[in-house]
Amino acid sequence: MTMAERNRRIVLAARPEGEPKASDFRLVEADVPMPAEGQLLLRTLWLSLDPYMRGRMSAAKSYAEPVAIGEVMVGGTVCEVVESRNTKFRTGEIVLAYTGWQDYALSDGAGLRKLDPAEAPVSTALGVLGMPGMTAYTGLLNIGQPKPDETVVVAAAAGPVGSLVAQIAKIKGCRVVGIAGGAEKCRYLVEELGLDAGLDHRAGGLGDRLAKACPKGIDVYFENVGGAVWDAVFPLLNMFARVPVCGVVAHYNDQALPPGPDRMSLLMRNVLFKRLTLRGFIVSDFAAQAADFRREVGGWLKEGRIKYREDVVHGLEKAPEAFIGLLIGRNFGKRLVKLR
Ligand code: NDP
Repeated sequence: MTMAERNRRIVLAARPEGEPKASDFRLVEADVPMPAEGQLLLRTLWLSLDPYMRGRMSAAKSYAEPVAIGEVMVGGTVCEVVESRNTKFRTGEIVLAYTGWQDYALSDGAGLRKLDPAEAPVSTALGVLGMPGMTAYTGLLNIGQPKPDETVVVAAAAGPVGSLVAQIAKIKGCRVVGIAGGAEKCRYLVEELGLDAGLDHRAGGLGDRLAKACPKGIDVYFENVGGAVWDAVFPLLNMFARVPVCGVVAHYNDQALPPGPDRMSLLMRNVLFKRLTLRGFIVSDFAAQAADFRREVGGWLKEGRIKYREDVVHGLEKAPEAFIGLLIGRNFGKRLVKLR
């Protein structure tokens, strides 16, 4: 670090109405902070961009506190220890942290996890071997409970959560249909990840194409999206189908309920008659399974049974635009910002 270096930070400038805009963020500069006794100075190498951040920009009630106006945007990071006044960490070590959209941050070491670059590329700690991977693994196995020969449908299947869900379901011996936006992503699902079908939700007639791809109906639907994808899936759910409700990214920018008839009674009737299980979850619900996740998914990765894809944007200043694009499918794989 040179003395002239500044700490660039992206703060929340305004709460978005609908889709976030560049003006909802502001880049500010501050002095690089100095670690006190017991603290570390961390320099961000990688910043993870994730759909949940849209929720933190809003003051609406959620499972986590919103970011305050003027505060730095939250987010998972991979950082290098550039100065340590904490006996548990050494300069040069690489850690998984939660220091948000900024170049530098102080830490007292709590909640940090050391990463071994020889074990896996450190960026994977934010993707396939990190929070999105753990979300896929725990949500599918605990709630979806896929059995051999069952049909599993996965929404947002080309993203970090969906692509791992789909590949684990294949490992478990299921027929797997992925839904994604655009021909290129759908080709990737079939040709690279080995799914049984990849369906483009942007092309018309998704319901009919999905019915053809799932001749025995759907036993597990991994919900990442909501909206029109859920509408196509819902009539095809089998008796005793399981629906891990992981995310509804199609609705994160909504400001009101959609127009149209109230279909709540249709949903509840089907939940009852078909004995459906719809269960929402937050990855932290399954924190106790972190070691199992790292061992099992890490093993599959080493054996080449799982693939992952990263979509890297260079420069902290690009984070707002990259995040806005993530919410509407402009990413192809785990969206990361590389700072150095
Ligand atoms: P992705 O990288 O898959 O990004 C989101 C994707 O959603 C976009 O790339 C886009 O893909 C798709 N999408 C956006 N809008 C629509 C739409 N209207 N209809 C259909 N698809 C749409 O994100 P992640 O893998 O990181 O996350 C996937 C989901 O999991 C999100 O809902 C997220 O909030 C949730 N999540 C939940 C967690 C939990 O603890 N419950 C933890 C982590 C993630 P495409 O181009 O294919 O349409």
